[in-house]
Amino acid sequence: MPWIKAARSTGVTGQVVTRPRPLDPAKFRDPAVTAKGERRASVALAGLRTLWINTGTLCNITCRNCYIESSPRNDALAYITAAEVAGYLDEAEAAGAPLTQVGFTGGEPFLNRDLPAMLRDVLGRGIEALVLTNAMKPMMNHAAALLALRAEFGERLTLRVSLDHHEAALHDLERGEGAFDRTMEGLAWLARHGFRIHVAGRAGFGAGDEAAMRAGYAALFRAHAIPVDAADPVALMLFPEMDASVDVPEITEACWGILGKSPDSLMCASARMVVKRRGAERPAVVACTLLPYDPQFELGASLAEASRPVALNHPHCAKFCVLGGAACGGCAGARPARLGTIRRAGCADLLQLAQHHHALHGQRRAAAFAAPAAY
Ligand code: SF4
Repeated sequence: MPWIKAARSTGVTGQVVTRPRPLDPAKFRDPAVTAKGERRASVALAGLRTLWINTGTLCNITCRNCYIESSPRNDALAYITAAEVAGYLDEAEAAGAPLTQVGFTGGEPFLNRDLPAMLRDVLGRGIEALVLTNAMKPMMNHAAALLALRAEFGERLTLRVSLDHHEAALHDLERGEGAFDRTMEGLAWLARHGFRIHVAGRAGFGAGDEAAMRAGYAALFRAHAIPVDAADPVALMLFPEMDASVDVPEITEACWGILGKSPDSLMCASARMVVKRRGAERPAVVACTLLPYDPQFELGASLAEASRPVALNHPHCAKFCVLGGAACGGCAGARPARLGTIRRAGCADLLQLAQHHHALHGQRRAAAFAAPAAY
């Protein structure tokens, strides 16, 4: 597999770790065409079904792998207010958008004092609300407000708790010592009080394949009476890894046919995210949850301005969405591309990408034990 032969080194356990080739700097330059001069794929907004709100990047902890670099000091994205969110909900309503879900992500959303008010606004409009949380102290500080929302709106409110791994040692490797226990306490509290719970883990972390990962989570959930079906890909969402420094093929218009995949299955066909940058007078709308900082994915100040198509001009588009099959909102159409499909189609670039994706997952399982700092 020449594409990933770039570097080989030995981890502390003695395992050989093959490092993938770094990203070709000629790629992802032009939103209209790829480095090879082919027409780059783009995704039209089929309908705004999920609106994400970034509540601010501050977090109570610092994780090694946080794609948005949240921490107790990073306020690059400031706290958004309930009034600002209400403006976007009003706009979606007035435009007749088919909005069924509003997701809140951070940072840790419960650090934003307006979160309960924002949730009440969303739920009161008959829209489902999803909160991504580490279920630690910031969430517990809002226990009374959460219980009131649960009593009033029931299962319309979902808490998706981040649990990187079902083993405490590996989760804590990413999130700090004791993080697993504190999150499990929060998870158990949510379960005891009848909240609708989902869990987010990582597909390529630790030993074993996805089936083994799901079996591990299932055992954990059983032991702690957590009502999450570990076999359900939405209830237990296992995300592929994100690494924009690794070389990936660019996605062209021809790729949809080769992969047998519809652009409508990607997150940016049905979602947008509102962010409030530090020092900005008003929030902005970006294409998706994955690219909050890249200016080319900032589409405007309003939902109307942000309804234009999105050019897939970032490595995450190829690796995480088109072949990884990830969708933060749990889109049922999002499925990883299969190696067999790509082999039959005979597209060399995509085959390389898929092989790399699969190989990297295997390597990272080993690397997580051998060289966690490089993860
Ligand atoms: S990262 Fe995914 S959701 Fe975001 S713009 Fe690219 S393809 Fe769309």
